[in-house]
Amino acid sequence: MATIGRRSLPALLALTLLACSTVPITGRKQLSLIPASTMLSMSYQQYGEFLQSNPLSPSKDQTAMVRQTGGRIQNAVERFFAEKGMSEQLKEYRWEFNLVESKEINAWCMPGGKVVVYTGILPVTRDEAGLAVVMGHEIAHAIAEHGNERMSQGLLEQLGGAGLALALENEPQKTKDMWMTVYGVGAQYGALLPISRLQESEADELGLVFMAMAGYNPNEAVSFWQRMAAQKTGGAPPEFLSTHPSDETRIANLRKLLPGAMKYYKGQP
Ligand SMILES: [Zn+2]
Repeated sequence: MATIGRRSLPALLALTLLACSTVPITGRKQLSLIPASTMLSMSYQQYGEFLQSNPLSPSKDQTAMVRQTGGRIQNAVERFFAEKGMSEQLKEYRWEFNLVESKEINAWCMPGGKVVVYTGILPVTRDEAGLAVVMGHEIAHAIAEHGNERMSQGLLEQLGGAGLALALENEPQKTKDMWMTVYGVGAQYGALLPISRLQESEADELGLVFMAMAGYNPNEAVSFWQRMAAQKTGGAPPEFLSTHPSDETRIANLRKLLPGAMKYYKGQP
């Protein structure tokens, strides 16, 4: 639960009672103050604006690889949710996978399945399985609604519960800045918030399951994160690494999660 500061207790209780949701698969309860419809409309707007001001990659092959990998993971997610009788939660998703031309080592997924991969990360992902590690992980953050949780925590700390609805309506710039920060879109929007260890571990767990179901060997995740960690040497760490620390703890955690994920791996479809 978020650090909440000194808000009035009854108001806070009312708020949090209304405001908890459950992460699919892991079952963790999370703070979720922003209506799903608001998250989706903000996502579709910000995603559209991002694509208007950032060039797509001219490479047909690499773009096709990003779309194919994304499409396979999307199918896996949809199958998983269908098997659990939770397809309703994906109903409003408008999946999209784009490869943007940029030296930045980065990738993200906004709510509703809006994915961007930067060409700068491709030398680190190397092949389709490496790409599936990144896309599976980022899609898992979106599926687990980590953005809503982080925005809820941030807004609650800055403005208090009562200020939240007003902020969404009356402070579009502040809300937009926080959005960009939460989704790791460009450091120019302020200090990047490192994602909590809990959310990272959750996205690793779900991401491994999704990539395995999509026909990618989840063992590839360990070598991808090792390659990512090696990017740290010399100069500032890449954006992706600032928000996704890659260290011994992550690698050890991944190794623990692998046997669970391998149950879903049946090889290439
Ligand atoms: Zn992450």
